[in-house]
Amino acid sequence: MDALRGMDGQNGPSGGRVLGIGKILTSSNPVALDVVMAAMAGTEPRRIPTTRIAGERGLGPVDLSAVEIVGDYEPIPGFRLPSYRLARSFTGIATAVVYPLMRRWPILDRQLCIKCGRCADNCPAVAIDMSPFPAVGRDKCIMCYCCAELCPVKAMTVPSLFRGVIQNLTGR
Ligand code: SF4
Ligand code: SF4
Repeated sequence: MDALRGMDGQNGPSGGRVLGIGKILTSSNPVALDVVMAAMAGTEPRRIPTTRIAGERGLGPVDLSAVEIVGDYEPIPGFRLPSYRLARSFTGIATAVVYPLMRRWPILDRQLCIKCGRCADNCPAVAIDMSPFPAVGRDKCIMCYCCAELCPVKAMTVPSLFRGVIQNLTGR
């Protein structure tokens, strides 16, 4: 894990605060790696769904005490976590009803786009077609927002929560 520089706060993946963390972590077990970094960021690793589920599937340790740490380990001073309040408040039916409305697909500003194709070339889900502007296939998009992060001219952006609700209700 390259954590020489990291980002904290609410506005990831491209709009948060850049921090000089100065860490590089390696591990033979990726879950253990995530557990250590989560603890250094100041959160309980089980609160991260992918880590918790990986632990439930027996893919690695979820308790920091079960990880053998070699080298220096120290919490990152002042690391600002994203808020969990919204996620915590959803349960059961609310999750089934509200979560789908909160999906947000990246949006393109054609006036800014220079049609370089970087977003399409780096989309891990191969969800972007260039024709000639990038078009996001919502059925494939995993909402990782790499396209917004990598766009050199900020033509691809992450919509606001409100815009996301509009996207879900209208399909536009
Ligand atoms: S990376 Fe940005 S500028 Fe390049 S094609 Fe994609 S949206 Fe357009
Ligand atoms: S958000 Fe991620 S998956 Fe969706 S189009 Fe952008 S890079 Fe591809």
